[in-house]
Amino acid sequence: MPNARSAVAVALPVPLYGTYTYRVEEKHATRVEPGSRVVVPVRGRRMVGVVTDAEPRLEEGRQYRAILEAPDEQPSLTAPLLATCQWIARHYAAPPGLVFRAALPSLLTGPGKPAPEPKSRRIANIANPLATLVERDAVFKRSPKQREVFELLESLGGRVPVEHLETQLGVSSSVMTSLVKRGFLSIEREATMRDAFGRRPRAPHVTLEPTPAQRAAIDALSAGEPGAVFLLHGVTGSGKTLVYIEVLRRLVIEQGRSAIVLVPEIALTPQTVDRFRAAFGNSVAVLHSALSDGERLDAWRAIRSGERRIVVGARSAVFAPLSNVGVIIVDEEHESSYKQGETPRYHARDVAVMRAKAEGGIAILGSATPSLESWSYAQRESYKLLSLPDRVGGGALPRVQVVDLRERNPATLADPYRRVFSEPLDRALRTTIERGEQAILLLNRRGFAAFVQCNACGDVVACPNCSISLTVHRTPERLTCHYCGHAEEIRVKCARCNGPTIKERGLGTQQVERLLIETLPSARVARMDVDTTSARWAHADILDRVARKEVDVLLGTQMIAKGLDFPNVTLVGVIDADVGLNLPDFRSGERAFQLMAQVAGRAGRGPKGGLVFIQTRVPGHHAVRAAVEHDYRSFVSKELMDREFPAYPPTVRLANVVFSGTEEAETMGAAERGATYLNKLIAKGRVEGVHVIGPAPCAIERIKSRWRWHVLLRARRSSELTRVLSYFSTHHSPEGGTANLRVVIDRDPVSLL
Ligand code: ADP
Ligand code: ZN
Repeated sequence: MPNARSAVAVALPVPLYGTYTYRVEEKHATRVEPGSRVVVPVRGRRMVGVVTDAEPRLEEGRQYRAILEAPDEQPSLTAPLLATCQWIARHYAAPPGLVFRAALPSLLTGPGKPAPEPKSRRIANIANPLATLVERDAVFKRSPKQREVFELLESLGGRVPVEHLETQLGVSSSVMTSLVKRGFLSIEREATMRDAFGRRPRAPHVTLEPTPAQRAAIDALSAGEPGAVFLLHGVTGSGKTLVYIEVLRRLVIEQGRSAIVLVPEIALTPQTVDRFRAAFGNSVAVLHSALSDGERLDAWRAIRSGERRIVVGARSAVFAPLSNVGVIIVDEEHESSYKQGETPRYHARDVAVMRAKAEGGIAILGSATPSLESWSYAQRESYKLLSLPDRVGGGALPRVQVVDLRERNPATLADPYRRVFSEPLDRALRTTIERGEQAILLLNRRGFAAFVQCNACGDVVACPNCSISLTVHRTPERLTCHYCGHAEEIRVKCARCNGPTIKERGLGTQQVERLLIETLPSARVARMDVDTTSARWAHADILDRVARKEVDVLLGTQMIAKGLDFPNVTLVGVIDADVGLNLPDFRSGERAFQLMAQVAGRAGRGPKGGLVFIQTRVPGHHAVRAAVEHDYRSFVSKELMDREFPAYPPTVRLANVVFSGTEEAETMGAAERGATYLNKLIAKGRVEGVHVIGPAPCAIERIKSRWRWHVLLRARRSSELTRVLSYFSTHHSPEGGTANLRVVIDRDPVSLL
């Protein structure tokens, strides 16, 4: 028998592109397959690497060091998963060892012992919500401090770590103790509520009879050839989840295969996750970010052993170690949260497609508002398009009405509430609440006000570390940077001209919440944004309260537009559709349209119907017009045309190469050298159809005290871009002096800011 396993090539979890060759001693020889982990010596330390090649070419006469351990009985990465990881490394020009590290639980790639369980934190919870201002006035008459703390908690989502309250927000523990004694507050240990999906009551499974349209989609999907990719374009409320469930029933339960279901964020989609759990019980593993390292490893093992065959999770669940994957579903495939923001910067939707092909399974990308990329693949028939054009049960899509904010009566604008709520929206809101129905209000900007500006000199207070204005927050009172977290006191005088005339501009969710509570004191308002959902499971708690009809008005940022299905929601209001519409980013129109269409789709899911108001200053914008008409197709055809000149995806493929450093001039210099290098590479090499744009400063020139410049690569063909990036990433290093330079390659970027 040939001694095939005498040496292996190993990728290490370090930011280097090569692999390293090690000798394999006899005793390990049977346990080192491609995809196996091995422990190897690196400069006197032990490191866990992954075998990429079990028959590497050896150099004559060279001494190789031996691997220390081969802990895997069977490879940690199955062959199709290994191939998928290698595709990621190539396509995104990412160091392979970092891809493997992202694909495995941290306890399997770290050299140390299993990390200890995190200590449990104490969490303060509102135990007795006080609905009305009248009640509050009575209860807290002689204890304004208690009221302050109670309302602070409320504004933070009703659930906040005690430590955060005491050390960050200066809340005294005696006030909290009084609130606990009076029964308004309770303190829990977080460990007892760590796994909401273990704790959540399991919803009863109701078997629904698929509609003819659903049936047609289910049949087409179940008959998909290995490697086929389907785009399931179903309007909001068309019943996509039932289609997914029935396909899983056929491919997983009846044919004995396994499946992955990706959702944008577990915390934001508890309803969807509940439906899968209700249908498949203990076959389902839910992977979410609140799992401890140990729990994650347990889940990984249960999946690897075949004990769990359906995995539901966010982005990284695409790496679940299932064998024989029959289908990978990407729900809400247009969501940008599928793109990983750090190396490896993969897009889980594209990885899902590659993995499904490697597994011989199918991929299903579902959305009411597909990404332009997926849509154009479907137009060119590399993806198969399936449509669910109608809502289930004969329900109509809600009527959408535009309110032109430019045409309001100036007399009403003196009233801050009326500045925010136009007359028709205000009227509809009051009627909705009176009828005992529910409303959803979207404003995609958190905080109290977007920025403060001096009325005299026009100066805007900006972050000292980032080239971005500071946002006004009211609870607690301060200015904060949404990029780096910098916080400072709200100024009363302008720092530049000393003028006393600081004005707050740009409405945020905190302000809308306050206006609502003041104007409609009997309405029960819940706010959902980054600031109210810092505690684990805060999202699910808020959404559960809405489902139990304990909330009349759910107000929030884009978080509230993801897949919610509440039949009692009859009104949706977009407070300011123009937020985000004019960002210097080629996807801003697409994002704005998706957001409007998705949030509108939350209305009228029940028999009572629904109504949507979109407040805007640009009613003629094609994104607004298409959202009003529920006309996805007219939106894409216009938007696809706009992406031809200048060319943006999906007309071309992009890679954004970002240079950053602490010194401005050196950063610019590095970007210039990088661009020159790329231009030479393209001129010299036989690469065609790749264009270098820039260098130029990024739209946000500085983040966290680092200057940012970028070079954009635009290519007609994906393979050419891969070649350029591969050469650039392995051969060009941006040597610099004191600037601590970094280069990041972002292939298929979701944003260029
Ligand atoms: P989508 O994800 O397409 O917006 P959902 O999957 O959330 O839609 O379904 C919308 C609602 O319709 C859900 O409440 C679901 O239970 C219900 N529904 C789906 N299919 C059927 C069916 N065939 N018969 C009755 N109700 C259905
Ligand atoms: Zn900052």
